[in-house]
Amino acid sequence: MQLFYYVLIFFIGACIVSFATVFVSDFTHQQVWSHKRSNCDNCHNQIPFYYTIPIVGYLGAFGKCSKCNFPIKIWYPMSELIGGLMLLSAAIFSHSLIWFLTIFFSLTLLALSDFQFGYIYSYYYLPLIIPALLHFSQLYLLEGLFVYFLMYVFQITTKSVGIADVEVLAILTVLLGYVNAVYILFFACCLCLVVHFFQKKRSYRFIPYLSVATGIVYLIFID
Ligand SMILES: [Zn+2]
Repeated sequence: MQLFYYVLIFFIGACIVSFATVFVSDFTHQQVWSHKRSNCDNCHNQIPFYYTIPIVGYLGAFGKCSKCNFPIKIWYPMSELIGGLMLLSAAIFSHSLIWFLTIFFSLTLLALSDFQFGYIYSYYYLPLIIPALLHFSQLYLLEGLFVYFLMYVFQITTKSVGIADVEVLAILTVLLGYVNAVYILFFACCLCLVVHFFQKKRSYRFIPYLSVATGIVYLIFID
């Protein structure tokens, strides 16, 4: 029974990432209410529903579109795997799953949007209202304002981070406190350095790193 519960939680995590991937893409292209299923990036044919099942669908299709044999991007199942493992770890180590789930969902939207398109919509912050209300008495508003001010000055003087990065870090500070925000920034920079080691780029979309770092910090330092 316990095993079934863990498999289910893993699957829900993978589904959230899968759903967020489609949602972010449709939202950006203003097709969010079109109720169509996913299409192949190459031939634009509709993908049969059993191939849209997270991870399993990718394996079942041998990583290729069943119509045109175009390879499906490996980061689709990879991001679903990370999402599944994140939520599974939260279920095992944390007591406040709803709190984690809503932050997880919002950060997934923000990270995927930043990763794919290089910008985000403010609507993606909306799920964060739930954890803010759940822990209303434990919010770190002054610390959040302080981090926002500090990062904002850093942003306008160095132009090395985007304004969305500043917003996300400030919001995470409000929810998790200044100390955890420093840990998140540290882990995000470490992840960025690791990626830079393998793949040198001139600019980095930083929200995906902040999001994964938040998951790591949450699982290690916050209960
Ligand atoms: Zn195709």
